[in-house]
Amino acid sequence: MEHKLPPLPYAMDALDPHISKETLEYHYGKHHANYIAHVNKAIPGTKFADMTLEQIVMQSTGGLFDYAAQCWNHSFYWNSMSPKGGGEPKGELAAAINKTFGSFSKFKDEFILVAASLFGSGWVWLVKETDGKLGLEISSNAGTPIKNGKKPLITCDVWEHAYYIDYRNLRTAYVDAWFQVANWDFAAANYK
Ligand code: FE
Repeated sequence: MEHKLPPLPYAMDALDPHISKETLEYHYGKHHANYIAHVNKAIPGTKFADMTLEQIVMQSTGGLFDYAAQCWNHSFYWNSMSPKGGGEPKGELAAAINKTFGSFSKFKDEFILVAASLFGSGWVWLVKETDGKLGLEISSNAGTPIKNGKKPLITCDVWEHAYYIDYRNLRTAYVDAWFQVANWDFAAANYK
């Protein structure tokens, strides 16, 4: 089965000025597309040939895992942002964030701190842990919480390719901008 680059859920310039059109042209149009191409090249004639992307992520290791997980993570990341995003979550998710972190503002500070502390490339996730509590999780490179049975709610890609065009070396400025477009409706739907 051939895997396809899923459509971006908004126009390339829809997140501007927080995330530029040029960044999405490269990040979605080149990086994500390249991960898909690698998966399609690797799976013919193997036990992975007819699996869904998520099945490949769960059952593969090594290079195939890296490419498949990057495909999965990026699809999740595009949905973690929206031109109508930003602000704060509402309802049950807001209550859970307040319970775990004290307030949305404290959660945001901690999220940015965790993102800044990640050495090298990776992802920052708000997850529902296996015991149902909320947690912040870092994954290096292609790491993904679904591999450990955790439920991702929202993610920020902190690979340099996600921000170097717009923010150069200023990762924290990028994560702050990510909060301006963070899709809390998506996170709330995942939390349910
Ligand atoms: Fe990326």
